[in-house]
Amino acid sequence: MSLRWRLTLLSALVMAVVFAIFGTIAYFTVSLFLYRAVDDNLERQVAATLIYGLSRPGTDISQLGDRDEIGTVFYTVIDTEGVVRYPTRSVFISDPMYNQAMSGSTVKSTQTLSDGTRVRVLSAPIRIPTGTIVGVLQAITPLDMTDHLLNELKVFLGVAAFILLIVAAAGSYILTGRTLRAVESITRKAHQIELSQDLTQRIPSRGTDDEVGHLVDTFNQMLSRLQAAFEAQRRFIADSSHELRTPITVIKSNMHLLRRTTDPAERTELIDITEAEVSRLNRMVNDLLYMAQMQAGHDLKPVLRHVELDSLLLDVFARTRSIAALKNQKVMLVHEDIAACIGDRDQLQHLLLNLADNATKYTPEGGTIALGLWQDDGWARLEVSDSGPGIPEEDLPHIFERFFRTPDARQTVRGGSGLGLAIVKTIAQAHGGRIEVFSKVGEGTTFRLWLRLVPESATPAPDDEPFVPKQLQEAEGPAATI
Ligand code: ADP
Repeated sequence: MSLRWRLTLLSALVMAVVFAIFGTIAYFTVSLFLYRAVDDNLERQVAATLIYGLSRPGTDISQLGDRDEIGTVFYTVIDTEGVVRYPTRSVFISDPMYNQAMSGSTVKSTQTLSDGTRVRVLSAPIRIPTGTIVGVLQAITPLDMTDHLLNELKVFLGVAAFILLIVAAAGSYILTGRTLRAVESITRKAHQIELSQDLTQRIPSRGTDDEVGHLVDTFNQMLSRLQAAFEAQRRFIADSSHELRTPITVIKSNMHLLRRTTDPAERTELIDITEAEVSRLNRMVNDLLYMAQMQAGHDLKPVLRHVELDSLLLDVFARTRSIAALKNQKVMLVHEDIAACIGDRDQLQHLLLNLADNATKYTPEGGTIALGLWQDDGWARLEVSDSGPGIPEEDLPHIFERFFRTPDARQTVRGGSGLGLAIVKTIAQAHGGRIEVFSKVGEGTTFRLWLRLVPESATPAPDDEPFVPKQLQEAEGPAATI
């Protein structure tokens, strides 16, 4: 059964229950009023008859019933012996009613006569002025009028409920149809998009601030994100295959030349170049695997732990020193505050090693590399500076893009993958941090990483919104920030 029919039936069912409850209440309230009116009338008539009849001394009690019958009330008079003294209609009066009346109470009951007529009977004691009970006066009124009215009311309520039920069901059928039409159009469009695989398509926005409008907006946002993700993936694959092809081509042609040349100097040079290209390929594959892993989500969400940044920086410092020694570079730890953050130690180490590795790679022999860690207004500030060639201003906005290498770097430094800073950026963002770069050609480069300090006695709060420190917002034009 369709959702539309199910909703219609459900609302009809709810309406039926509501009508049944209200109809029953209305019916019983009216019947209560009508029966009470009948009883009131009987009581008034009996009281009038007794007052009028007994006010004349020496009245025979059989005369009490012999009155011009007013309306539809009839009387029976029974004496103390239980003999019916004035029968206008033969009504069976049960012993309990008679006995109760004889003992001084007024009793009311509903009875059905032998011809099937339902009547209301009121039995009252006939008490003479001395207080003695001399018989029972029984007033009888047929209930056919009241029953008829109640039957009519029953029919009316039934018909009204039926009509209202039909109207409510039709209304709900039309309304759910309208609402579901919008949902159906979303489903159709989604199906179309799925068939055509065209993620540029969007569902026309309804511009309404309701559930369906929100569904459309959310669906469109999801499409935009999917489109961006597919686009990024496509570009990544295209870029990767292009970049991987270059070193392979160089290696292949060098091998070819090696077979042909006999000149030892030329052979050594070819082997050097080939070795550099192999190490570049190796690095590129490793970086690609690292990125792919992160993008697959395995490591993208960092394993959040308490990371002591000062001890991490010491590790990086030691490793950098041994690499820098090969180029006679000087590595300094210029400042080290004690600082900790919540994050993934392995990822943060990878990030810092990438920066330090770049510093040693691009800084010429004998240059200087400086590492530092400061506590700064709730943030940890880590810096990796070098006295290298610097990065031209026009290249700064691009250095965090995948496979971007400055033309200078392409020429002078072999073995780079162009992925290191893209990885740095991804890790920094996954930690809710920021990274800035300051560089001047001929003077050097400084990479500055901001990580939120772990508050005293705090537990990891991975979902917290990253907070931008004041000095970052006000910083006088950092060359590039992510
Ligand atoms: P690569 O593997 O080429 O080093 P990265 O993504 O790590 O790739 O860096 C991108 C580019 O940024 C480098 O090719 C280089 O041009 C520039 N770069 C990065 N760090 C430095 C630095 N410390 N000094 C000068 N240039 C740098």
